[in-house]
Amino acid sequence: MPRRAQRRTASFELPLLPRRRGILFPSTAGPVLVGRRTTLRAIEEATEHDSMIAVVTQREPSLTDITEADIYPIATEGTVNRALRLPDGTTQVWVQGQRRLRVLRFTLTDPYYRVLVEPIEEPDDHGVPTEAMRRAVLALFEKITQLAPSIPDDAYVMAMNIEHAGWLADYVASSLELDDDAAEDLLSTIRPRERLEKLSIHLAKELDVLELQSKIHVRVQEELDKTQREYFLREQMKAIQRELGEHDPQARDAMDMRTRIEQAGMPAEAAAKAEDELRRLEQLPSASPEVGIIRSYLEWLVTVPWQKATTDQLELKDAARTLDRHHFGLPKVKERILEYMAVRQLAKDKLRSPILCFVGPPGVGKTSLGRSIAEALGRRFVRVSLGGIRDEAEVRGHRRTYVGALPGRIIHAMRQAGTVNPVFMLDEVDKVGADFRGDPSSALLEVLDPEQNHSFSDHYLDVDYDLSKVLFIATANILDRIIPALRDRMELIELPGYIEDEKLHIAQQFLVPKQLEEHGLSRLQLSFTPGALRKMVREYTREAGVRALEREIGGICRKVARRFAEDQLTSARVDVQSLESYLGAQKFYWGAAEESDQVGVATGVARTELGGDVLGVEVTLMPGKGGLMLTGQLGEVMRESAQAALSYARSRAAELDISAEVFEKNDIHVHVPAGAVPKEGPSAGITIATAMISALTRRPISRQVAMTGEITLRGRVLPVGGLKEKILAAHRAGIKTFVLPKRNEKDLADVPAAVLRELRFVFAGDMAEVLRVALDDRAPGGRGEP
Ligand code: ADP
Repeated sequence: MPRRAQRRTASFELPLLPRRRGILFPSTAGPVLVGRRTTLRAIEEATEHDSMIAVVTQREPSLTDITEADIYPIATEGTVNRALRLPDGTTQVWVQGQRRLRVLRFTLTDPYYRVLVEPIEEPDDHGVPTEAMRRAVLALFEKITQLAPSIPDDAYVMAMNIEHAGWLADYVASSLELDDDAAEDLLSTIRPRERLEKLSIHLAKELDVLELQSKIHVRVQEELDKTQREYFLREQMKAIQRELGEHDPQARDAMDMRTRIEQAGMPAEAAAKAEDELRRLEQLPSASPEVGIIRSYLEWLVTVPWQKATTDQLELKDAARTLDRHHFGLPKVKERILEYMAVRQLAKDKLRSPILCFVGPPGVGKTSLGRSIAEALGRRFVRVSLGGIRDEAEVRGHRRTYVGALPGRIIHAMRQAGTVNPVFMLDEVDKVGADFRGDPSSALLEVLDPEQNHSFSDHYLDVDYDLSKVLFIATANILDRIIPALRDRMELIELPGYIEDEKLHIAQQFLVPKQLEEHGLSRLQLSFTPGALRKMVREYTREAGVRALEREIGGICRKVARRFAEDQLTSARVDVQSLESYLGAQKFYWGAAEESDQVGVATGVARTELGGDVLGVEVTLMPGKGGLMLTGQLGEVMRESAQAALSYARSRAAELDISAEVFEKNDIHVHVPAGAVPKEGPSAGITIATAMISALTRRPISRQVAMTGEITLRGRVLPVGGLKEKILAAHRAGIKTFVLPKRNEKDLADVPAAVLRELRFVFAGDMAEVLRVALDDRAPGGRGEP
């Protein structure tokens, strides 16, 4: 059917091209995608008969089969220009829109859709209001074409040249990206002026959005430009500085630090932390006070060892040789150290071996044994003294928020060691205390616990630190003062002290050669006779170890070296006679033999920080009313011991041959010198009782006898601690007879044979036995004397 004939009739039929999306406006052209078989058929039909086609849009895009109700009622009459097959099987056709049609009904649905339509006549809209609308729309459209990148620049020129108001509206509407409902609304608005009005509202909205978008865009661009500009400038500056051989010190520091962080071999957590801090540092201006804080923190992170380790030397024979080279005697101690090392070596660190703890007075070689272990293993040696630590922060450090914060002693020592597996000596673990600043012993427990110490936390470092490869050795002076939780974790090795002969050997073989070397002297220039050394041990030192002895030897070396330097001497020999000229008058009296026995003075033995020491207990009677006076800074327990001793004496007065009125007419004064040193403990009980009974009975006490033991009200003698130290102290002081509780007999097991030979031991079960040994029956004196 020819086209013209169709147009003349009021309604006619056309093949239908339904679109799922998008509106084709009259007088505009655009591509339409075709997938449906029926639509393809419709297009074929149109081209075959050189007919037009009705383009409509579906209300619901997902429908494939449609009826009248599923499409918008206004269609656009169009001509199909060309069809392109696309690789995905669909076809693209180019459709040129002509005029508006109203769809009346479907006349065919298979094999394609065919509809009955009638053309819509557009009223001619001229006049001023329409022209005004036309210009307004054009003005808006001009602005939009300038801002919207999706609209080609010549679209405005095209629009400007369209005279017809309706056509202009259709053209501009097709250029905008309107949603289907809005576009359909414009399509079904027949009057051109009305269409222009609706369009202008859309245009104004669109313009608002575009303007806002452009503002945001400009701001973003400015920001980007600024940072980019700075970046380029900075890079240029660096390049210029490089060319000139100059460097920004801060940048160079940061660069150095980065290399050091990379080389430090930190675990991931620490490395990430370091990198964070470094980045922060780079961003700070160099004058910021934080720069110093971050820098010293990073300095700590990179200087603490993370990976570096020494290789263990595990030949036990060599280890034994090293121990012997530096230490005289101590066979049992050395044996236990070697056993310990052997076990560690066999277990290859798998076994959670307990921590070694050397217990003994100062100067017995605890530190030097630790050093020898390190030397034998080929490990570094570090030492931290815990004496007097009361604050957890001393162990763990302060958080970085504190001014002047630093890591704790553990991390300090690790940095000093420089390796992850040093021998680490924790000195004086018995002197760790707790107070309001937190309990350092809990931090210590963490350090020493193999379950936990692979992730030790120092407040300052703020990242876990692995202490599991460290060989910890602890030292303590007094066993009982180590807190039990700590003591349980440790293998205790006791070094109670040396006897005189051992000290002489140590002096001759170790201390003298060492001091000579330290003072740049040779054996030929300075020598000591054995007699001189013995005199030094007896009269210039009174100690369990050899520290003071070493100091005295050193003092002589210094004096001799000075005389050499002043050319007054070429060689010196220190003997018993000349000793006083070097060291001055004797400091201690050795032995008690020459002193006469006295009434009311008994010799006790106490354990002290320095090992053991003899002490006299003095008791005197004064006319009074039976009071008891105690002086010499006695602790609570010791005062009670004195009370118990007095009660014992009173209750046994008859047996002891003391008249009851002595107690009524006298006051008893007990004094324990040295008066300035605080004393505590029950072990002076029998000594106080002996001195009291001596004073009450006027019978003198043998000065050759020393004693230790707790007393009960009934006069039983109870066992006490620290026997080894006490026996050595008594032996040192030249005592001949040592009275001790029967139940302490087992403590003699480890006492050196020489001491067992030279001391007579009396094991007492009750006070009568003590008195039998201590009180001298034959000596003058007796009841009734003042
Ligand atoms: P401590 O740590 O127990 O206080 P040190 O290890 O500091 O004692 O010892 C003090 C000095 O005595 C050191 O010079 C040490 O070498 C020396 N010394 C201690 N015991 C011996 C020994 N058995 N043989 C050789 N020297 C010793």
